[in-house]
Amino acid sequence: MNNHTDERDTLALMLKNDPGFFRTLIDALPIQIFVKDTKSRFVAANTATAKIIGAASVAELIGKTDLDFFPIEAWTEYQSDEQQLFATGKPIIEKEEPKIDKITGEKRLVWITKLPVRDKSGKIIGLVGFGNDMTERKHAEEKLQEERNSLRVLIDTLPDYIYVKDTQSRFIESNIAHAHHMHVKSPDDLLGKTDFDFYPKDIATSFYTDEQEIIRTGKPIIQKDEINSTLQDHTVRVLTTKIPLRDTKGRIIAIVGVGHDITKLSKMERNLGETHSKLGNTLNELKRTQDQIIENERMRALGQMASGITHDFNNALTPILGYSDLLLNGPDLLDDKATAINMLNDIRTAAIDASQTVRRLSEFYAPARKTERKTIDINKLIDSTLALTRPKWKEEMAAKGANIQVVSELNEVHNVYGNESQLREMLTNLIFNAVDAMPKGGTLTINVHNEAPFTVIKVTDTGMGMTEEVRQHCFEPFFTTKHKRGGGLGLSMVHGIIRQHEGNIDVESIEGKGTTFIIRLPEAVEPVFGEKTKVDKPVEIQQMKVLLIDDEEIVRQTVEACLKGDKHTVHTATDGNEGIALFRKEHFDIVITDRAMPGMSGDHVASEIKKINPNMPVIMLTGFGHVMKDLQQRPAGVDLIVSKPVTRDSLRDSLIKAVSHKKH
Ligand code: ADP
Repeated sequence: MNNHTDERDTLALMLKNDPGFFRTLIDALPIQIFVKDTKSRFVAANTATAKIIGAASVAELIGKTDLDFFPIEAWTEYQSDEQQLFATGKPIIEKEEPKIDKITGEKRLVWITKLPVRDKSGKIIGLVGFGNDMTERKHAEEKLQEERNSLRVLIDTLPDYIYVKDTQSRFIESNIAHAHHMHVKSPDDLLGKTDFDFYPKDIATSFYTDEQEIIRTGKPIIQKDEINSTLQDHTVRVLTTKIPLRDTKGRIIAIVGVGHDITKLSKMERNLGETHSKLGNTLNELKRTQDQIIENERMRALGQMASGITHDFNNALTPILGYSDLLLNGPDLLDDKATAINMLNDIRTAAIDASQTVRRLSEFYAPARKTERKTIDINKLIDSTLALTRPKWKEEMAAKGANIQVVSELNEVHNVYGNESQLREMLTNLIFNAVDAMPKGGTLTINVHNEAPFTVIKVTDTGMGMTEEVRQHCFEPFFTTKHKRGGGLGLSMVHGIIRQHEGNIDVESIEGKGTTFIIRLPEAVEPVFGEKTKVDKPVEIQQMKVLLIDDEEIVRQTVEACLKGDKHTVHTATDGNEGIALFRKEHFDIVITDRAMPGMSGDHVASEIKKINPNMPVIMLTGFGHVMKDLQQRPAGVDLIVSKPVTRDSLRDSLIKAVSHKKH
């Protein structure tokens, strides 16, 4: 005998000894079980049935009908169901019947199944019923459905494409946005289809390959930038994310896809890029125009000064021509040494004045190099600008019978770090405007003082002043009240220059009384230990053998005379070739050459000399000396640039410098 037979025997014995066992079991079940006769009277029932019907006990139920417990409408329904069952023998399977729990008053939903009971002859003699309380399950189902619905609404409201594909890449879910993207009416139209039904073959293949790769490796695709154009679309750019969906065992069962349409965005991005580059071009164009405007304005200012400069020059030439004529025509005068020396001194002073006018002019027209900045002494800058503009405020006005008094209130102020020619242009403009505002004369005051962290320049005139409207607009480009005469760019240029120097400008004006421009420029940060100016030890000038190359006879003669006056030996050449030939023949201590010469240029001469003797000091003497220095031009082979016109002193200094420079 095996164990199973053993257990079965024990159980059979137990049931035999306890006939109430099944009864207890049936009463303990949560399912309602009942038996009715063909008159629908309860013949038997379990506790769960009595409970839901509201009978105090099973015994109370026996012999009674539903009418004893339920309202007549409910009874009528149950009664007709049961009569039909008795008539046809057709069972009632899981019929939903709402019931009210008689004890708690709760609404319950019961699924009722009723089966016919037949006697041995097959005649229906009653029914057996089962009731299953589904209330909880129903609630849970309804809740789930609600959740599903709201999730669905959410998914369908999203503008992004959302879909689920099975492992064969067939659509099993899709939202409305995705259906529209695929040009079908509803998400259901996609079910069971694949991308091959909608996309050109190459695109569909690439999607399929990606998805199969995800299924194989489990690696998601995150925000892949792809072209999703269906057969009916043009170009649609989509950022696609595809992630694998796994079952509880971790097996990949589907792929969830999310697509974000970036077509518009990318178009905007492209447009933005194009606009940006167009803007860049316009800006460059504007910068070029601005440079051109500034250049024109400078030339205009230069033009305005031309008449004054002519005047200055004529003034300078007067004593030069007058006295030299006198001396040449009246040789007797030479006997009166004191008078002759006085005349010569006047000639010299006038010539120096003239050379300074030229120098200032060259400072003005030297192109402003925006990037070149240095520490600038504002007092010096004002002095030189006033001198430079003197022809305009002094001589030109005097010619018109007006007198302008210039007062410079200079104080010890901090230097400013900036671009000298730009700042000079700025001041020139303000001075010109002040002069324009005082056609009948007046006072121009330039005041300089510190107002930490700024160095302040105030330019005040006692002219016509401005109305409030003019004051508000005067810095705008092309704004002018001087029709025909004014270009309206002066102050906008001033403003631009000050802004480039990180400063600011204010204007105060009273109509009929005058105007003050207040310019604040940041103080320069001075080095803590100021570099001591190098003091060259006075070098004893030794007598030298000089090779002088210049094509202009008058220059050659003057320079030769000056050099000989200092006891140097001088050999001259009228052009580069002659000079080089001489240099090859004889030994010299120093070479002085002009720059612009017909045939061989001074630059070429210098480099040839250095080829022959690299240690030979070479001085370049040129009318463009200042410009070259400004532009920091120094041709190879040249040790020192000296500006024409030279004086005996400047020539002497240059020789000492060039020779000592070579010795170091
Ligand atoms: P422009 O001098 O060519 O007219 P600006 O830009 O230099 O151009 O000046 C613009 C305007 O500002 C002038 O036309 C003038 O009306 C006014 N303005 C400038 N400076 C003064 C000043 N010192 N006094 C009175 N008005 C001035």
